[in-house]
Amino acid sequence: MTTEADLRQEIVEACLEMNASGLNQGTSGNISVRLGNRMLISPSATPYCKMNPEMIASMDLSSEMTGEWEGPLRPSSEWRFHWRLLKERADISAVVHAHPPHCTALAVLRKPIPACHYMIAAFGGTDVRCAGYHSFGTSELAEAVVLAMKGRMACLMANHGMVAAGMGIEQAMWRTIELEAIARQYSLAKQLGDPVILSNEEIGETLDLFNGYGVQDA
Ligand code: 13P
Ligand code: ZN
Repeated sequence: MTTEADLRQEIVEACLEMNASGLNQGTSGNISVRLGNRMLISPSATPYCKMNPEMIASMDLSSEMTGEWEGPLRPSSEWRFHWRLLKERADISAVVHAHPPHCTALAVLRKPIPACHYMIAAFGGTDVRCAGYHSFGTSELAEAVVLAMKGRMACLMANHGMVAAGMGIEQAMWRTIELEAIARQYSLAKQLGDPVILSNEEIGETLDLFNGYGVQDA
């Protein structure tokens, strides 16, 4: 059985991987996971190389949003959208937020990523939407992210970055890697010409094929 200690360790390792692989930089980004009726989330503004499992904050998911936490450090400034996604979505148990270069470049254009590659289906539909711009850490940004994630497992965030979710940190990280890959491919294709976009039928077929494909819940 996965223990709280395991999940705290998993958050630290995923944060380190996120930066080592170039998906993120500095103290940007944050990772959360559901544990029963609590949320474990990376602390705010903490260099990942200095982060240890005891520094992960814990917040109650069962009551109203109070912002109270347990732990030695303040939770991520983006705890609100992590909290809402974990509270409101039974199909999500882990959330990754990062500022990957290609996702963020597309998010600066404030346009969704269309079905330029069949892997778009890994995010639950025919596109990956872009949440509207609001200052980081605000409840307005949390609302925009929750809306853009409706029926999806990822979104871009205007002039900011991206969010990916999953059942387990491994699955949310897999989607983060795949979203940055598709953002890079789409950016390259747009520089070369007019990308051909797959039809709803083609993506529908892929969605069927995706049943049982991909990183499964740990
Ligand atoms: P935190 O360091 O508070 O997690 O914030 C980083 C970030 O990416 C804000 O959007
Ligand atoms: Zn951010």
